[in-house]
Amino acid sequence: MNAVVSNDVADAPLDAAIRAELARLAEGLRPAQLYRAAAWLAARAEQPTQVVAHASVEHLTVIYGSQTGNAKRAAEHLVRVAEAAGLRVRLVRADAYPTRELARERFVAVVISTQGDGDPPDDAKGFVEFLTSRRASRLPDLHFSVLALGDSSYPLYCAVGRTIDARLAELGATRFAPLAEADVDVETNASPWRTTAIEGVRPLFRSANVVAIAPVRPVTSPHDRDRPFEAAVLLNQPIVAEGHARDIRHVELSLEGSGIVYEPGDALGVWPRQSTALVAQVLLATSLDGDTSVERDGLTLPLSTWLETHRELTRLSRPFVAALAERSTDEALRRALEPSGNATLREWLETLQPIDLLRRHPVAWTADALVVALRPLVPRLYSIASSHAEVGDEVHLTVSVVDYRTEGEARHGVASAHLATAEEGGTLRVFVERNERFRLPVDPSRDIVMIGPGTGVAPFRAFIQARRAQGGTGRNWLFFGNRHAREDFLYQTEWQAALKDGSLHRLDLAFSRDRGGKVYVQQRLRENAAELHGWLAGGAHLYVCGDAKAMAADVHAALIDAIATHGAKSHDEASAWLDELLREGRYARDVY
Ligand code: NAP
Repeated sequence: MNAVVSNDVADAPLDAAIRAELARLAEGLRPAQLYRAAAWLAARAEQPTQVVAHASVEHLTVIYGSQTGNAKRAAEHLVRVAEAAGLRVRLVRADAYPTRELARERFVAVVISTQGDGDPPDDAKGFVEFLTSRRASRLPDLHFSVLALGDSSYPLYCAVGRTIDARLAELGATRFAPLAEADVDVETNASPWRTTAIEGVRPLFRSANVVAIAPVRPVTSPHDRDRPFEAAVLLNQPIVAEGHARDIRHVELSLEGSGIVYEPGDALGVWPRQSTALVAQVLLATSLDGDTSVERDGLTLPLSTWLETHRELTRLSRPFVAALAERSTDEALRRALEPSGNATLREWLETLQPIDLLRRHPVAWTADALVVALRPLVPRLYSIASSHAEVGDEVHLTVSVVDYRTEGEARHGVASAHLATAEEGGTLRVFVERNERFRLPVDPSRDIVMIGPGTGVAPFRAFIQARRAQGGTGRNWLFFGNRHAREDFLYQTEWQAALKDGSLHRLDLAFSRDRGGKVYVQQRLRENAAELHGWLAGGAHLYVCGDAKAMAADVHAALIDAIATHGAKSHDEASAWLDELLREGRYARDVY
């Protein structure tokens, strides 16, 4: 039997008997319940099938670690191609992989992303820890290949994949294809890696074990990243007080007619469009004509269209700095790319946009070279702030316009600015990105604790809507924080109504810039540590959403302290207990 899940509805027709049985079961269900049932079934199809191949039958094990879904998608793609090549395949999420089996494997492909500061995704922490520890045994019989995903606007690009690749080789394993590194435009490098990997591993299988079978494809929505849905904008309104320093918005979109279903915890991918002002600035800085035709990736488009809808202009990347350095005589650019220039490069990547370097270093560009130097534009993900159970075929988002100031000018993030200016009646190109690790407990009698400062509160609005519709007995506790109670208490009236109707049991607030000094959510966690520990000890699920840089780590530390103090554990024991919750999926984080 082959692993993987079907992705193509057309390849898996339902016969009349199954349809009749489903119709019988669906009889009398309200539309919201039908949505839940459809989403539940879809989620079953999405779960990686844990097929333990028969010991004597050779198979390729594909292990993935994924934070936002890109690595999972790349792993699934490899599986489809491997199956089409007649290989038996086993697809496993890293936290479900029994590491002791590694010593018995013959063929393994690892597809893994790197988070901001060189960390593995949450679902691969245990796997990476094991592999890099002394517990990992020698692997002389193993053939492997690694696809590392990363973001070249961070200095530690693809660090986790590189570490795994080097470590497996150090343990005596042999590469059947060299390490490949994929930037945010994943397919550019993932696609050739897949070909090389299959060409490398297939001849190593004993021919009796290569089977001629039609691949089974996973079920997906008719719309995905490459086939987005044009969703109508129903509402786009600020939800902070007038004159607030930040522009935070509640956006409602219609999914009517799309067939798209989502679950609380999922994210909505939005394909952005660059502002025409920024495109004009880039054309001016490069002295290029926007009408110049550029042919690339099978597309022939005017340069201005490439810049507006196909190229990244708001985030600087290392390859762009390198392309500019090649054209410029300025030593500063070259120095920033050397190991000793790491601090400068990091500062540039964090604070500058391509336009800033184009202006600082005017060099001769051709339209073609500029399109090659800039990274492809990729969709941005927003945690969904609604549940079908309450909003039917709508989807709601909480959007904070990313703004910063560089070179004396106000700058915006591409997608949030695009969303902020989206007019009601207009459309946005969207798709759903599943997040299987950020799910409500299946058992509605379980308590949940949600920690979501700022726009990190978005998925918890979805959670409360869904739990209200579920009508279970589990209690819901929300920790929320923002700057000022009177100005940016997001969804204040909804939380108050939820407290009243019993769908929210506790709400603890931390406003950081009101009089009385800084208060963050973690202070509230510490103040309520005894009760919090009681909830966790009683089986509560714990969720954190929002900023990954500082908040997630500070909240994690406060949780360890609460567990150590009230669970009679040492700091290390409390930390290990929390790590175990993370591995079990009872502590889930959606942070970036
Ligand atoms: P924000 O302004 O960054 O922060 C919200 C509140 O958190 C403010 O009161 C802020 O206080 C406080 N805060 C600052 N440092 C903190 C720390 N170390 N621990 C706890 N609280 C701290 O909020 P935002 O701009 O709405 O968004 C939050 C972040 O979450 C963004 O980085 C966004 O990208 C991310 N986000 C991620 C997801 C996701 O992963 N799915 C979803 C939504 C948002 P001060 O500013 O007064 O210091």
